[in-house]
Amino acid sequence: MSARTGRDRGAVELRSVTKRYGDENVVDAVSLTVRAGEFFSLLGPSGSGKTTTLMMIAGFTAVDGGAILIDGVDIARTPPQRRGLGMVFQNYAVFPHMNVFDNIAFPLRARRIAGAEVETQVARALELVQLQRHATKFARELSGGQQQRVAIARAIVYSPPVVLMDEPLGALDKNLRYDMQSEIKDIQRRLGMTVVYVTHDQEEALNMSDRIAILDRGRVAQVGAPGEVYEQPANRFVAQFLGEANLVAGTVQRNGDAGLRFAAAGGLSVAVRDQPGFGPGSAAVLFVRPEKVVLGDVADAPLSGEVRRSDFLGSVIRYRVACDDTVLTVDVANAAHLRRPRLGERVGLRWLPDDATLLPAAG
Ligand code: ADP
Repeated sequence: MSARTGRDRGAVELRSVTKRYGDENVVDAVSLTVRAGEFFSLLGPSGSGKTTTLMMIAGFTAVDGGAILIDGVDIARTPPQRRGLGMVFQNYAVFPHMNVFDNIAFPLRARRIAGAEVETQVARALELVQLQRHATKFARELSGGQQQRVAIARAIVYSPPVVLMDEPLGALDKNLRYDMQSEIKDIQRRLGMTVVYVTHDQEEALNMSDRIAILDRGRVAQVGAPGEVYEQPANRFVAQFLGEANLVAGTVQRNGDAGLRFAAAGGLSVAVRDQPGFGPGSAAVLFVRPEKVVLGDVADAPLSGEVRRSDFLGSVIRYRVACDDTVLTVDVANAAHLRRPRLGERVGLRWLPDDATLLPAAG
């Protein structure tokens, strides 16, 4: 790969980018900054505008408003082939009538690169995706995972500073997906390229990304590092989309001199830490992930409840525990040293103060 690829190139900025179909803004004034060399994911449910956003960056879909800058230059009206971006799609898009070498050489030959240089660049790309031994095979003779490696090699062979990927692992089975996640991440790190990655798979985005933008109906609900958006979601939508979440509606109250309490409509009452924007009297939603709740003895726990249900999910046991009329979900790791309460048993519940977050009641 050429020495030009590095963290000095490949910054992507979207300023108020909008796409309308009919009278709906399917991408609604989206502003994002992707740093050079960053692995950045667009994550959201089906129809939230991920692919449309990526296609506007690629140039295959025209923008109806806003600007798209690559390294400070607005390319919103530049034809796709002149944007110099690499692309990988879900459906491989390799040429079945060409062998692996020719598939990967294609973008170099299209750029009229000399034969010897083509040999060198393709050999490097083959090595990166570990397909050296398959160079003369036809694409149709390869497995799904191998074809996707060809597509990745073809997208990176000319060292584009930015590679756009749209659900590239969507067609692969679960174990292969997981292996390929590490491979793509490894290639991205080694080349220092910027990747803008579209996925609806939360675990994939959390595992691969430096930062994630979560889209909700064409708008950015939150941008942050995986740990940040998972642990400190901005609202209920993000909390629920990223995994199992306890979301309990109620109000914030003064707890004498001891700070604040949260009182749920269903009766649960628990101390909460101070958070900007949530004074006494505020309506709020209490958010706690199920795996942050620790079950123990009733005597020394701030909350207690009755076990109503348990589901065996393999690596975890998922309990439903009724605290008055509020039912909390609690995940306990399937580990020998952890006690498993019985149905109907009363248990104590606790969590660390930082593991509970107040979210806005609306939205
Ligand atoms: P995602 O990638 O998040 O699943 P898309 O960007 O594909 O979402 O689509 C966002 C919304 O835009 C959807 O409601 C979809 O139906 C609509 N849409 C996408 N492409 C077109 C099109 N060419 N014409 C009309 N509506 C479209």
